[in-house]
Amino acid sequence: MSDPESGDAGNDSSAPTLAEAEAKILACESSEALKEVEREYVGKQGVVARLLASIPDAPPEERPEVGKQANILKKGVQQAIQARQQGLADARVATEREGQGFDPSLPPPRPQRGSLHPLTQVTRELEDLFQSMGYRILDGPEIETDYYNFEALNIPADHPARDSHDTFFCEGDGHLVLRTHTSPVQIRALENLEPPLRVVIPGKVFRHESTDASHDHTFHQMEGLVVDRDISVAHLIGAMKTLLRGIFDRDLEVRLRPGYFPFVEPGFELDARCPFCEEGCRVCKRTRWIELLPCGLVHPNVLRAGGVDPEEWGAFAFGLGLSRLVMLRHAIDDVRHLLGGDIRFLEQF
Ligand SMILES: [Zn+2]
Repeated sequence: MSDPESGDAGNDSSAPTLAEAEAKILACESSEALKEVEREYVGKQGVVARLLASIPDAPPEERPEVGKQANILKKGVQQAIQARQQGLADARVATEREGQGFDPSLPPPRPQRGSLHPLTQVTRELEDLFQSMGYRILDGPEIETDYYNFEALNIPADHPARDSHDTFFCEGDGHLVLRTHTSPVQIRALENLEPPLRVVIPGKVFRHESTDASHDHTFHQMEGLVVDRDISVAHLIGAMKTLLRGIFDRDLEVRLRPGYFPFVEPGFELDARCPFCEEGCRVCKRTRWIELLPCGLVHPNVLRAGGVDPEEWGAFAFGLGLSRLVMLRHAIDDVRHLLGGDIRFLEQF
């Protein structure tokens, strides 16, 4: 559009006018075109430079006037270019607003925020609930000795119940294992605390088994232990009903079925009325009952192992599957999601 080399302006007797330059600048539709005009007028070889260079050749009386005109032209061109640049920028914004859905009233993008893992949420809620009922929260090692994980819990080396605990053994003589349940902390509590006592033990447990939608090698439990005088099954049922009210926010009918666990006698499976349906659903497999937790009166051998006299003290214990509880609450159909670390899954909580 404008060719600085063709400039007939410099040697032309009729000096280039600011009006001409302004017209050219106004016609520019891009900043590239504006740069071109800028070079043509105020560049090193531009119109203004040539005008100034011509001063020595001009008659002495005209020289001041030529200098003055050159300065006016330079300033005028620079101002016009600046104004046009602003105009082009404004026009660009206006086009974006109308044409491409730019909406200045939309909120800006927010920084990503984290949230608590659903397992952490449930664990904290239950800890609050148990603390309100006078329980202490205990913690224990995830790598346990054979003694605490099995032996002291009335599961001696030749006991068939060991087969149902698919165990991760640590390298060495098999003396150390990844705990298969949170129960070893019961023994540690009995050893270290004076009865009467009420404790819950939330934590990770490990099973060496192939994984599928309902099994994972790592999952979360919360174990409870109450030691007091004259403990009976009625105390156990009462505590479990209170617990369920805390979890599901209403009273649920419960039933006990006999269950065998070496560390309790008698042992039970506690079922609760399905809180999700009236007539049977997928969660309760249409039975109207959901299997919630194993529990029972603590076996005298276990109390003895913890240094507590079973003639003097009674105890009940229960194990809550925290992973299962989270799955029930959020209708999660695959336990592997919980520890899978997929951000798309975690973002939903
Ligand atoms: Zn149901």
